[in-house]
Amino acid sequence: MLVILHPNMDESSEEFRRTWDYLEALTEIRTQKHIVEGNQQQLTEIYLIGNTQKINRTDIESLPAVERVIRISEDYRILGRHNDDNRQSGFEYNGLHFTQQNLHIFAGLCAVDTADHVEEMMKAVQDNGLNCTRMGAYKPRTSPYSFQGYGKECLPYVFELAGKYGIKVIAMEVTHESHVDEIDECLQAAGNPTGIMLQIGTRNTQNFELLKVLGKQKKYPILLKRGFGITLSESLNAAEYLATEGNANVIFCLRGMKTSFSSPHRNTVDFSQVPVIKRLTRMPVCIDPSHSVGSRDRAPDGLLDVFHCTAQGVIAGANMILVDFHPQPKKALVDGPQALLLSELPLFLADIRIARAAYLKRLDLIAGAPAN
Ligand code: PEP
Ligand code: MN
Repeated sequence: MLVILHPNMDESSEEFRRTWDYLEALTEIRTQKHIVEGNQQQLTEIYLIGNTQKINRTDIESLPAVERVIRISEDYRILGRHNDDNRQSGFEYNGLHFTQQNLHIFAGLCAVDTADHVEEMMKAVQDNGLNCTRMGAYKPRTSPYSFQGYGKECLPYVFELAGKYGIKVIAMEVTHESHVDEIDECLQAAGNPTGIMLQIGTRNTQNFELLKVLGKQKKYPILLKRGFGITLSESLNAAEYLATEGNANVIFCLRGMKTSFSSPHRNTVDFSQVPVIKRLTRMPVCIDPSHSVGSRDRAPDGLLDVFHCTAQGVIAGANMILVDFHPQPKKALVDGPQALLLSELPLFLADIRIARAAYLKRLDLIAGAPAN
């Protein structure tokens, strides 16, 4: 059961104390408090966990600090959608809103290699009217002999250039809690020129200790990738780990599934599940066409498979696109074969606009259709 308090509830108030004391005294029930920092107001949500069947909802609703009560299902308590649940989706970060309604494009380098490439990439992002990018500094690699990313060594110039080119948010994977401290220190030393969205890669979706540490910090939002070989429900529970630790500013990213049937794509593209995740949870949904497709193969119609898959995710309502570009893919240290060229960025964006417009038209169509 979820108890939502009146907005901006002061915890030292009499109303709060009476409400809290009542809830704490319920037998066989554990209470868990969750604060939602909104744009205009702060919301306190209290989860009642345990045998809630015997609780009288009207009694709880009549407590002085309570605005409303929602009976929630067991799954995805914080991030999930429940009956009569009209809580908002998404969050605001560094001046940008991430919701289940809008769309952000994070075009950038899979892995940072040189400062020149970072600069060319960020300039192209800015020239094309975007203000987000991806920059891999810590790379989880299948082979220990592969390039592991430049780590904290590259952060000073990445952050400085982000400031120069007006980048508001960089998606950056972390594979260990120490990486968050390194990012933190370097950002501060650079005068906080940009925001960071901490990315948890597909190999770490069920690294529960990492999830707990990242969930405990509230400074940075989190982009959680779906685990490549586990069920959707297991991946959504991983997101819930972040939320139960305190950070519900989570975007869920589809990046394809490892199956024996995906070839010639690197992974079996799963973007048909964009609407499923929106139905089950309140998280904005990201698609990563680059790691799904894994190549620059082109269909006979002239469009790259990466373009096709992106359009498929966007027309299904995706809210974020994480996509690999590189100024010189042949020189890329990681995933060059799937990188789009900077000269393809305007075309890529124009193609996305077509798919997005089609998605919005589909919403109009269904809004105007007779109810059944
Ligand atoms: C990445 O986005 O750079 C990456 C390694 O992706 P994934 O975790 O989906 O393989
Ligand atoms: Mn990659």
